[in-house]
Amino acid sequence: MGNVKLPFGRTQVSADEISELVRVNRASQLLHESGKTDSEDQIRSFIQTVPDLLGWLEQHGREFPWRYTTDPWRVYVSEILLQRTRGDAVAGIYDEFFSQFPDPETLNRADEKDIHDAVSSLGFGNQRTRTLQEVAELCHCEYGGDVPKDLEALKQSWRVGPYSARACLLFACAEPYALVDANVARVIGRVLDYEMPTQPHKSKTVYELMECLVPDDPEIARAFNLAFLDLGALICTPDEPQCPSCPLEDCCAFAATRLG
Ligand code: SF4
Repeated sequence: MGNVKLPFGRTQVSADEISELVRVNRASQLLHESGKTDSEDQIRSFIQTVPDLLGWLEQHGREFPWRYTTDPWRVYVSEILLQRTRGDAVAGIYDEFFSQFPDPETLNRADEKDIHDAVSSLGFGNQRTRTLQEVAELCHCEYGGDVPKDLEALKQSWRVGPYSARACLLFACAEPYALVDANVARVIGRVLDYEMPTQPHKSKTVYELMECLVPDDPEIARAFNLAFLDLGALICTPDEPQCPSCPLEDCCAFAATRLG
């Protein structure tokens, strides 16, 4: 991949440029189908705030070690370690894990107990060990020691879902995919007053909506996704959203109802 600015990608961008890189019509149509009458205005208002959102990321984004690499092995495995786990906990084992298992081959021939010991502090030790073993075997035996660059192949191992596979392609291969997890779904649901299904990460419509909104540029897509992830974790939290500190406040439907 080309030279992506790490850790956040490109964060300096104008609203006009974003407009050219987003599928406004299809996003508006999807919102309209969910019952919104002013859907295009909502999308355009959101686009106006994206430069502030990316600027916020540059200042407040979390500087985890996996955000400083585009090495596919490190990115892919980090996403597996992050499943149902706090970033701080994964950051605590990151250096030691990758010095012990620097590539698929090393992990593929490692003892199960050593893998388990390396990840047990994160919880779900048995499940995670099995997934890591399957991932190492996939890369080592089927892809010549490389991480596959194909969404379906990346999802092949046990408990590796669309989020981890997409994150790998986005962060390691600079493909402008949209990520959908609970944080992302909560933020966009509140901003657009879009009623999320119970499991947004399994909804084709939610993915399509986010795909329309993610700018079609690898560096900006990286920043856009990271901004949503971090905003959901730090500002737009489930119980106490801090709207006055939020870069999306001016376009956010939820904040508007709070202000009355
Ligand atoms: S303005 Fe408030 S509700 Fe809207 S995205 Fe920001 S923190 Fe969340």
